[in-house]
Amino acid sequence: MSTNTAHQMPADTGATYVVPGFGAKESFPIPTDLLIGDNWVAGSGEGRIEVLNPATGAVLTSIADATVADGMAAVDAAQAAAASWAATPPRARAVILQRCFHAMVEHADWLAQLISLENGKALPDARSEVMYAAEFFRWYAEEAVRINGDIGIAPAGGNRIMVQYQPIGISLLITPWNFPAAMATRKIAPALAAGCTCILKPAEETPLTALAVGEILRRAGVPAGTVNIINTSDPASVCSAILRDRRVRKLSFTGSTEVGRILLREASYNIINSSMELGGNAPFLVLDDADLDAAIDGAMIAKMRNAGEACTAANRFYVQEGIYPAFVDRLVEKMGALKLGAGTDAATQCGAMINGAAIDKIEMLVSDAVGKGARVRLGGKTPAGEGFFYPPSVLDEVPLNADLLREEIFGPVAAVVPFKDIEDAVRMANDTEYGLAAYVYTENMKLGLQLAERLEYGMVALNRGLVSDPAAPFGGVKQSGLGREGAHHGLLEFTEAKYIAVNW
Ligand code: ADP
Repeated sequence: MSTNTAHQMPADTGATYVVPGFGAKESFPIPTDLLIGDNWVAGSGEGRIEVLNPATGAVLTSIADATVADGMAAVDAAQAAAASWAATPPRARAVILQRCFHAMVEHADWLAQLISLENGKALPDARSEVMYAAEFFRWYAEEAVRINGDIGIAPAGGNRIMVQYQPIGISLLITPWNFPAAMATRKIAPALAAGCTCILKPAEETPLTALAVGEILRRAGVPAGTVNIINTSDPASVCSAILRDRRVRKLSFTGSTEVGRILLREASYNIINSSMELGGNAPFLVLDDADLDAAIDGAMIAKMRNAGEACTAANRFYVQEGIYPAFVDRLVEKMGALKLGAGTDAATQCGAMINGAAIDKIEMLVSDAVGKGARVRLGGKTPAGEGFFYPPSVLDEVPLNADLLREEIFGPVAAVVPFKDIEDAVRMANDTEYGLAAYVYTENMKLGLQLAERLEYGMVALNRGLVSDPAAPFGGVKQSGLGREGAHHGLLEFTEAKYIAVNW
């Protein structure tokens, strides 16, 4: 094990970035280089990648741009650390993970500020993200010492079937921009708990959070080479090269279904074990007997957490006729009261979208729906001025042929569709190639549980607006993904079952 512990702070090296106007005592200059092995290095890329503030469009700073050679250097570093990390006693790994948890909590306010700055989300969303992100370290610190195998008697008697779970090996972790801290820790923590070393490739839009988390982990005592972080403007070439290196044994990806498909192809060359958290198109069902207040509160969370930029975000509201008018009126009232603004402003409740392309997509889906007959009950128009903003919006009477019922809008737009018969609602809810999260509101628990079983989704929230929990298996069916993150399931994704046939 490395001697790099929390008591021996590594020196700040390389290029750094200081969050302007935010000099909290728990802050430190954020590295802007690549974390390869024991140090931050500039890498061999010639250019730098600019990081923008989505609330203004202005450049915050620039970061190192990894090449294929840097990607290979990261694999070398992960390989050099692999044997000793796998041999580190589970309790020792757990202690380091606990330290990562505490270090993230100590830096929570500052990290939240950073997330809001580069991602655009409102500070309360950023704060919840940091706590959610930190919890993965605590949960997997607890799981690291519970990697139990089993032993059985072969059906014919005599022989014993012994199974143990071994670290799967070097893992490539690719994350999106919408939860820049949590998507990284949801992968790093179980990888480390299982005894794997890893290479994190964050999204180009939000690299600073991942780099800050990397520095926090270093300071918390994660040994050199165990976690490597590379950002690149050419993810296709760099990730493909890494996946074609035979030392790499695991891919864990969160992002779009299109990129997931490309990566599965790339992973096929060396038959790399792949976990995929891909797109969603979450239905939100409200039955006549639902508690209206609870359904509205749940809808606000499911739709507006992260301003709708979440793969679990409610994309389609199917509301039964009896409760429909009251539900839409209340949703319009609540959504209309939200304050739109820069995520870093304390009063903001709905922050900026990530970039101009996100705004273009929202505008396209809204105009398609309106063109086909949807009514704009709130918002529906991009405001003038700087930054990438879209206001909280409600479209009702959305026709069934509207593109936004098929495609994730990934923004603060609620599309509401009335229904009469519950069977129609189930059919519409399941009529999609996605299957990540679904929501149901009803006071009839028997019916609710029956619907939960019939909805073709990896996660169903019954009278709740939030499914994410580090202790629960997160993941989708159909084209929403492969495998699960969080819970004990998430740990097993970073292991291989080894069967030892024993002649007793
Ligand atoms: P989103 O649509 O949410 O931006 P993407 O799927 O485009 O999601 O990106 C998610 C992550 O996948 C990012 O880190 C991005 O850099 C990475 N990525 C995009 N294209 C590729 C690719 N061809 N190979 C590997 N990673 C990629």
